[in-house]
Amino acid sequence: MAIKEPEVLNPFTQAVTQFDTAAQRLDLPQALRAILRLPKRELTVNFPVRMDNGRVEMFTGYRVQHNINRGPAKGGIRFDANVSLDEVRALAMWMTWKCAVVDIPFGGAKGGVIVDPRKLSRTELERMTRRYATEIAGVIGPESDIPAPDVNTNPQIMAWIMDTYSMHHGYSIPAVVTGKPLSVGGSEGRMEATGRGVFFVAREACHVRGIPLEGARVIVQGFGNVGSVAARLMHDAGCRVVGLADVYGAIYSEHGIDINTALRYSQEHGSLKDLPGTVAMDSKTILEQPCEILIPAATEGQLTGRNAGRIQARLIVEAANGPTTTEADAIFRKRGIAVIPDILANAGGVTVSYFEWVQDLQHFFWSEAEINARLERIMVRSFNAVREKCEDQPNCDFRLAAYLLAVSRVAEATAVRGIYP
Ligand code: NAD
Repeated sequence: MAIKEPEVLNPFTQAVTQFDTAAQRLDLPQALRAILRLPKRELTVNFPVRMDNGRVEMFTGYRVQHNINRGPAKGGIRFDANVSLDEVRALAMWMTWKCAVVDIPFGGAKGGVIVDPRKLSRTELERMTRRYATEIAGVIGPESDIPAPDVNTNPQIMAWIMDTYSMHHGYSIPAVVTGKPLSVGGSEGRMEATGRGVFFVAREACHVRGIPLEGARVIVQGFGNVGSVAARLMHDAGCRVVGLADVYGAIYSEHGIDINTALRYSQEHGSLKDLPGTVAMDSKTILEQPCEILIPAATEGQLTGRNAGRIQARLIVEAANGPTTTEADAIFRKRGIAVIPDILANAGGVTVSYFEWVQDLQHFFWSEAEINARLERIMVRSFNAVREKCEDQPNCDFRLAAYLLAVSRVAEATAVRGIYP
């Protein structure tokens, strides 16, 4: 098979291709296609930060709002050396579809700073975060655009953003970001929400595909906020987690890895590397090991035309955003491997972010049991809506079905609002 994919994949090209496929199938009018293909607003900021040694370093960051027709823009902030404007554009567009597929009243946005946060001290990280928050303060706000954590950002960083924004206004505005610590208006269950949502859709998909959870072999690539929770819940449900990976490498054990031990080990050693009782592998090879369920939970472009033919899973649940290229998607379709798309699979995070925002605005907080029960209802309802759409349509897979549902909801809101002026 000819491999057309370039070495460096452009996630925005991939996001637009996915949108175009859905727009074509929906027969969307030209005006709606033109509007929805492009981000509404893009901000690039270059800003100085004083480092601990007294030197001043320049950083570049972005905030992109793809669409706000269904509600305020919503999306995480990523701190990573590989951040680019096209990556942030793609992630912002995926957020629009994600909020629409679970039918919560938000549009899509994303932010990022080009930085390896592991190279910053805590005080440098705080100054960098606060300056970036100040630079984007003109476009974010509880009614306009609400950031949240993503790769390499966490509740502490959200607290600094909330505090910086509040300082500018002279009073506390907790609803400006979600994923905050509980002590400053965070929500019960938010930390675990994305991984928990991944578990709910994986469970439903296994049921539909006739894969018993008990004993199912699972491989999870990425052992951060999302991957570690998804792995633990799959393990607790009786699955055998045979492979795990983080940025330092992968570990494999055909007898199953005890997730609680792996969590403790990873916290103590900063990585999963050399976990006793496991075999070391690289984080691409692990994807190709035999398993029933593969959960990419790290970063984009992991499943490509190069490795899709060697993947042995029966079900892929996209916990990460954009882990599967369009070429890999086509190969999986041909091979009968079901892919639960990112915009559905990892929507648990934004769903509980929505709960957090609602609680902050109302100054009225819910219990963890209530949050988890509401999350489960939304994830199961959304999974079933996507499955039904998939069954209704000729030649459809879960990704196309999720896009058809999401894009039609956003297109309807866009059409009914009309073109201003
Ligand atoms: P995180 O920073 O907490 O964890 C990322 C994990 O991936 C780490 O274990 C890291 O070591 C690993 N990793 C990074 N590059 C890797 C590579 N090349 N190979 C193997 N492992 C690698 O980030 P997170 O919040 O868990 O996000 C993971 C993915 O989930 C991202 O795609 C993110 O956009 C998506 N996501 C996150 C949320 C959320 O609420 N945090 C919500 C929706 C989607």
